[in-house]
Amino acid sequence: MKIGFIGLGNMGAPMALNLVAAGYTVTGFDVSAPCPDGVNSAGSAAEAAANAEVVITMLPNGDILRAVAQEIMPAMADGSVHLDCSTVDVESARAAAELAQSHGCLAADAPVSGGIGGAANGTLTFMAGGSDAAFEKVSPLFDVMGQKAVHCGPSGNGQAAKICNNMILGVTMIGTCEAFALADKLGLDRQKMFDVVSTSSGYSWTMNAYCPAPGVGPQSPADNDYQPGFASELMLKDLRLSQQAAEAVDADTPMGQAATSLYSDFVEAEDGLGKDFSAMLPRFVSRRRS
Ligand code: NAD
Repeated sequence: MKIGFIGLGNMGAPMALNLVAAGYTVTGFDVSAPCPDGVNSAGSAAEAAANAEVVITMLPNGDILRAVAQEIMPAMADGSVHLDCSTVDVESARAAAELAQSHGCLAADAPVSGGIGGAANGTLTFMAGGSDAAFEKVSPLFDVMGQKAVHCGPSGNGQAAKICNNMILGVTMIGTCEAFALADKLGLDRQKMFDVVSTSSGYSWTMNAYCPAPGVGPQSPADNDYQPGFASELMLKDLRLSQQAAEAVDADTPMGQAATSLYSDFVEAEDGLGKDFSAMLPRFVSRRRS
């Protein structure tokens, strides 16, 4: 199977390399990142898409996805699939899918969870939206680049699943961090706090698997001076997408809204840019009740 790969950044490059290692012929294009060894370099997105059975995009946002989709569609073969793995707004994912359909192509939106490590190790989780036919055609690629793929329904539903998951993640991380900061001020040892909460009803992925307190729980970015991991600005991006979606469908998401506001302060007005999203803990520790 010939694959076009557009967007060879932190995530795209290792994903493309895993496809090459599995024996696929991959032709890639990026406006600035270099084409990794083993991936054939194309001079444009349309050139990377021409003659490919599946064209994967791994791009920064919905506007860029829409522009790239416009560019590649005329070059894509009938019946080929546009597989977008970027995290974008639901509307852009649905617009790209409609465009593909109008050109006689299939489309799937399949954002990922698992980060750069998951991309490099081929252990990503894909949350996919699109037709059964599109999902079946790209499933072997999910097996190479990831460890799990869930077909969540029609186009846009992969993005819907991703932003709902990450809204929970942002809210839970804030809850975990503010509780640790409160426990500190109440004189409760962090290890004791972990021992209790990780086996009680307050347990969560952020407490049990990605504990924001250094030296407590399994190894996490907190143990590496909050180097990401999952950077706060990426969490902010996903939280904003969740609020954009909530506005579009008139959903009441007060906790998501609060988390968005806290991460936007952290990244844009404080010192959170470039730090792991669990660095909310030292932020809360340094603050007083307002
Ligand atoms: P990145 O910025 O490293 O890579 C994006 C690449 O797209 C860049 O190399 C950029 O030059 C390229 N690009 C931009 N416009 C282009 C165009 N018109 N044509 C071709 N290439 C173009 O970002 P990333 O970390 O690889 O993330 C990619 C996507 O995956 C984002 O949507 C992000 O939200 C999502 N994501 C990232 C992570 C993570 O941990 N980094 C985790 C899950 C999901």
